[in-house]
Amino acid sequence: MLFQDLNLIEPILKALKTEGYTQPTPIQEQAIPIVLQKRDLLGCAQTGTGKTAAFAIPMLQLLAEDFIVGKKTKAPKALILTPTRELAIQIMESFAAYGRHIPLKRSVIFGGVSQHPQVMALQQGSDIIVATPGRLLDLMNQGFVDLRSIQIFVLDEADRMLDMGFVNDVKKIIAKLPVQ
Ligand code: AMP
Repeated sequence: MLFQDLNLIEPILKALKTEGYTQPTPIQEQAIPIVLQKRDLLGCAQTGTGKTAAFAIPMLQLLAEDFIVGKKTKAPKALILTPTRELAIQIMESFAAYGRHIPLKRSVIFGGVSQHPQVMALQQGSDIIVATPGRLLDLMNQGFVDLRSIQIFVLDEADRMLDMGFVNDVKKIIAKLPVQ
């Protein structure tokens, strides 16, 4: 199978070509059609098998389609929670690479550094937020993040997030998401 067979839009196919990707990996082949149908998905695959692109590519497509029909607001529409700052940065870089031809704004949020640049980025508006749970909750409690417009929610490395003791933070964040 080729990426062309997955009904992806041209700006994404062009970005994947730039990345040098030709064929989807098995998890991408299986996950992308399900996410494009806006269905819930639980994915398991070993490290290095392309899980990030398996969710980032179809999310970018759904968000781009919304953008094209003009639902433009400053509120974030997609949230990815991940356990570590390294993963948060890597995921954001993947969204930047695959979304290079799509005009969506992104913010990355993690602890251990000054919150100021992150707050500034949020205030300019973000379509996509990639965050570690603790700092996100902190910024939510200070009123800098409003999750009421989130349409797509990802728990990346959910098992590791639980191992690291983030369960209560994750629950508090989920409680602020739209019910649907
Ligand atoms: P991940 O499992 O998401 O950490 O991805 C592992 C590596 O595989 C990353 O360096 C990606 O850039 C790369 N990758 C992901 N999908 C593909 C693909 N379809 N073809 C070639 N490389 C890929």
